[in-house]
Amino acid sequence: MPFLTEPEPERGAVLPVMPGITRIVAANPGPMTYHGTNTYLIDTTEGLVVLDPGPEEHPEHVAAILRATGPNVALILVSHTHHDHVGAVPALQDATGAPTVGFRLSGLEGFEADIKLADGDAVAGMTAIHTPGHASDHLCFALQTSHGTAALFSADHVMSWSTSVVSPPGGDMADYFASLRVLLDRADDVYLPGHGPPLPEPRTLVRELLTHRMAREQAIEAALSRGASGTYALMDALYSQVHPRLRRAAERNVLAHLLKLEAEGKVMRDGEQWRAA
Ligand SMILES: [Zn+2]
Repeated sequence: MPFLTEPEPERGAVLPVMPGITRIVAANPGPMTYHGTNTYLIDTTEGLVVLDPGPEEHPEHVAAILRATGPNVALILVSHTHHDHVGAVPALQDATGAPTVGFRLSGLEGFEADIKLADGDAVAGMTAIHTPGHASDHLCFALQTSHGTAALFSADHVMSWSTSVVSPPGGDMADYFASLRVLLDRADDVYLPGHGPPLPEPRTLVRELLTHRMAREQAIEAALSRGASGTYALMDALYSQVHPRLRRAAERNVLAHLLKLEAEGKVMRDGEQWRAA
């Protein structure tokens, strides 16, 4: 797949993205996070908005955000409630008093956004798009910039550097397929993801992601038509190239596919084994 790479960003630096938008990359690199979580600073009609403050364990990241913003943060946007995005929300909110904004139904116990959004709601001149799949409460934010670019903050739904993990129960493969199709019906010029560099001509990748997942699903069905199998064995057979540290995530993806196929009546569970229906 046509994934992008970028050199390790300078830590704590405010990186230009496009006029009115910068990002700071948190120092939480890893096999699921690339160089780290992108925290975006966005100049909006409402003032400066911070999207995804990042993980909890990196106070120097919050300090870098505050150096860039000063105390005047209008809103703290949350794309979804995974820890690498929402962990630093309390620290940033303590320092700025800014209200948090997220999907109306939080996927994380103990977090409730101050301002709750539904699909299609406007916030700070942007439009929230509910895109469940990677996470049930996942939002993308669409921004028509003053210089005519249609930008979409795609968070972890579509990333430039890798596929997304879809891990039940928060992750749902049928939702993920549907949310990819939602993006295909749009005409955004560029995606600004939660990890990795900006993604130009984004629908090319979205189409490939859909094709890749449909092929994966067919491979699972084909494997089960040859005999019952457990999720780990299926992952082992289908993800032969996967990095050892990503095997667990790959197994979660397989489970997500199986649950989708089960809901469609195509496979059934038999204890620890799955079989064709
Ligand atoms: Zn993430």
